[in-house]
Amino acid sequence: MSVMPSPTADVAEVLRGQDPQVADVLLGELTRQSTTLQLNAAENFTSPAVLAALGSPLANKYAEGYPGARHHGGCEIVDAAERLAVDRAKALFGAEHANVQAHSGSSAVLAAYAALLRPGDTVLALGLPYGGHLTHGSPANFSGRWFDFVGYGVDAETGLIDHDQVRALARTRRPKAIVCGSIAYPRHFDHAFFREVADEVGAYLIADAAHPIGLVAGGAAPSPVPYADIVCATTHKVLRGPRGGMILCGSELAERVDRAVFPFTQGGAQMHTIAAKAVAFGEAATEDFRVYARQVVANARVLAAGLADRGLAVTTGGTDTHLVTADPAPLGVDGRTARGRLAAAGLVLDCCPLPHGDARGLRLGTAAVTTQGMREAEMARIAALLAAVVREETDAVAARAEVRELTRGFPPYPASYPS
Ligand SMILES: *Cc1c(COP(=O)(O)O)cnc(C)c1O
Repeated sequence: MSVMPSPTADVAEVLRGQDPQVADVLLGELTRQSTTLQLNAAENFTSPAVLAALGSPLANKYAEGYPGARHHGGCEIVDAAERLAVDRAKALFGAEHANVQAHSGSSAVLAAYAALLRPGDTVLALGLPYGGHLTHGSPANFSGRWFDFVGYGVDAETGLIDHDQVRALARTRRPKAIVCGSIAYPRHFDHAFFREVADEVGAYLIADAAHPIGLVAGGAAPSPVPYADIVCATTHKVLRGPRGGMILCGSELAERVDRAVFPFTQGGAQMHTIAAKAVAFGEAATEDFRVYARQVVANARVLAAGLADRGLAVTTGGTDTHLVTADPAPLGVDGRTARGRLAAAGLVLDCCPLPHGDARGLRLGTAAVTTQGMREAEMARIAALLAAVVREETDAVAARAEVRELTRGFPPYPASYPS
């Protein structure tokens, strides 16, 4: 069965021998991921090399501080992993400084706020009803509790960011920072516009590029790096690395950002994750990754067109990114009901806000299926299947069989992976 030895396969064997209950979870999840369609826009299949770094003894090492200036002994070797990750991130994104210690996208945003703001400061960000993230002022999140968030919106008809409103709110509310970034916006943010508004009112510009940073890495989306004071990102979405965060900024903010991560908001760095980030940045610098990033967008465009052809109301009429959001209401079904039917059929995706703000739509992403090797033809099939399932023109058993047939040709991991 084994095609090539995989360190991850060995790890799974060890787990199976010692703890079959947890091994069952691991292998069950691998089966779920391989046999259903992963259309969650925030997910991907990270590589066996990234998984190998994650499941390594680097996880044992305590390393508070930064390379060459740690609070623990014995960091000489792991320092090299962090230097590699930082240097590769700087080169990949053309940034003067990179912090790769943020444990998650939310931790990166928390650190950005900590670097630039004081509690009570006013921040202008995309409102949560229009696709802002929890860290953009949700009352359930530290951001909404500790800062005075003002939300801008999107045009109810076009679904596009309302630039006039952004400018007007900036002028009247004089925010200390403006955030551009979203969990569901399928178009590019106009970074030059946001920079201009931030400069006019003397605000910092924070780009929360958690979603598109992988497209930026692959040259398939414009970079916020030349415009934003701080760029926050995740490493596990389109970028396809380990679960984690990253912060990019200019040299002048480097020390403030580093201190905002450690010691202000985090303790010891996760050196196994940082090594895995270095691996992912290495992968993202290849021509293969650029081809992947372009294909992610091409696939999303075909998916959006296919859904529109079948009567779903595709937000903004299409997409520039990996993200497609659509309202199934014209098919007579609300977003939550549609998501439930799709889940039963093996199409895994999320609900999201819609431009008019009073109902939930469907949010799909093409990063994971593109990593699996699916192309335009498969996207057209997925669009047709999705509409048929939402309309209940096919039952869950038949739909599951089609999903199984579709996924069989595109295993996310090499045959040597345990199953
Ligand atoms: C995913 C996301 C985050 C948070 O990432 P986590 O790793 O889940 O904390 C922050 N901001 C935006 C815009 C996101 O899409």
